[in-house]
Amino acid sequence: MKKVIIIGGGASGLIAAIAAKRHGADVTIIERNIKLGKKILATGNGRCNFTNVDAEPIHYNNPTFVKSVFEQFSPQDTLLFFKSLGITPKIEDLGKTYPLSEQASSITDVLIYEVKRLGIEVVYETVILSAHKDSKGFVLYDQKGESFYCDRLIISTGGLALPQSGSDGTGYQIAKDLGHEITKLFPALVKLKLDSPYLKQLDGVKFPGFVTLIHNQTPIQTEFGDILFTKYGISGPTILQLSRKANALLSNHESVFIDVKLVSELSVDQIYDRLLELKNLPVELALLGLINRKIVAVVLKEAHLMADVRIDQLKPNQIKLLANILSSMKFKVTGSKGYEEAQVTAGGVNCDEINPVTLESLKAKGLYFSGEVMDIDGLCGGYNLQWAWSSGYIAGLYATK
Ligand SMILES: Cc1cc2nc3c(=O)[nH]c(=O)nc-3n(C[C@H](O)[C@H](O)[C@H](O)COP(=O)(O)OP(=O)(O)OC[C@H]3O[C@@H](n4cnc5c(N)ncnc54)[C@H](O)[C@@H]3O)c2cc1C
Repeated sequence: MKKVIIIGGGASGLIAAIAAKRHGADVTIIERNIKLGKKILATGNGRCNFTNVDAEPIHYNNPTFVKSVFEQFSPQDTLLFFKSLGITPKIEDLGKTYPLSEQASSITDVLIYEVKRLGIEVVYETVILSAHKDSKGFVLYDQKGESFYCDRLIISTGGLALPQSGSDGTGYQIAKDLGHEITKLFPALVKLKLDSPYLKQLDGVKFPGFVTLIHNQTPIQTEFGDILFTKYGISGPTILQLSRKANALLSNHESVFIDVKLVSELSVDQIYDRLLELKNLPVELALLGLINRKIVAVVLKEAHLMADVRIDQLKPNQIKLLANILSSMKFKVTGSKGYEEAQVTAGGVNCDEINPVTLESLKAKGLYFSGEVMDIDGLCGGYNLQWAWSSGYIAGLYATK
């Protein structure tokens, strides 16, 4: 019987443990926290968007690698897995899937129940700090200098996002100890900081619209959905989706801008024509019928216009400028809210050094990886937990072979 140790009792570590135990291994989870699955409780605003039934490899940074894993354990397999544990799924817009209970604790409860039912050993409040391989297997050392031995090791330590949940990046050091390269790390699915004199005025303004990420004057990603201005910058699902590319460029010291379409429903020409129709009105009043009240003063300032000037008193190029601002207002991105508020870490253990079928290391035989510790990240909407489940199940399965 193979002795398998899993470092990390988060999403991917829990399913890896269940898969390995069900396939006959002697399994131990080593978890730094006093309980399992802490981060899962914070997911999906406490509802746990545990998968996305439409998740495809193209929704991740390394589709070829993800495809190989999804072919063996797909989003549909995830649904069946959780259904068999007692979860009744609720599929919402864009394939986002939650437990019908709308409680993330349902997901941790059923996983922990299964861990207990299978008799999987769990060592709590233990941080593995280093590891090495000898002729027999792996030796791990914890914060107290105590050691653990196993034939097969699965690193399921997560990344750097939400460090208070326990994932503080120690897993990368363990992977390095065992010969692996870590690609460049940066936060993804995170709120962005902007450089703008208007942030105080815009704080709290929320509206649905188009946002586009601009690099070298070229649009590189456009999203539609809720946009929320805050006192530090900008947030909302649209921004989280743009944040990966924004942070990747910022980490290379490139300049990036966010272009916000304040009036998404009309083209710039239609806005221009509409303003002309309102020619007898003060410009402020014309704007009040088009955009959120809090944005009006900002637009007027940006267009260098007085609130009470009538539209028919403006020159055509002033109306054009106004229409352009309403159609495209640019903000310089200066950074992000960092790992503290990120949902996922981009970068990680280099996938070129991992067998895409078995998730076994190509550097150290008997070593496996699962979840976010690898250089895999996906879109916002259930994709990252789906990766944790698929990769965890596959790593757990092959670790027993
Ligand atoms: C606020 C928030 C909301 C999110 N919402 C969603 C969502 O709705 N849907 C979605 O798909 N994804 C969501 N995600 C992302 C998703 O939670 C993660 O991608 C997923 O949990 C990663 O699973 P993992 O097992 O790789 O790592 P983790 O879940 O981070 O688990 C790692 C575990 O390893 C333990 N550990 C780490 N290092 C050590 C060590 N050295 N020794 C011992 N133990 C260690 C940690 O304590 C932790 O329990 C969200 C993330 C955040 C932060």
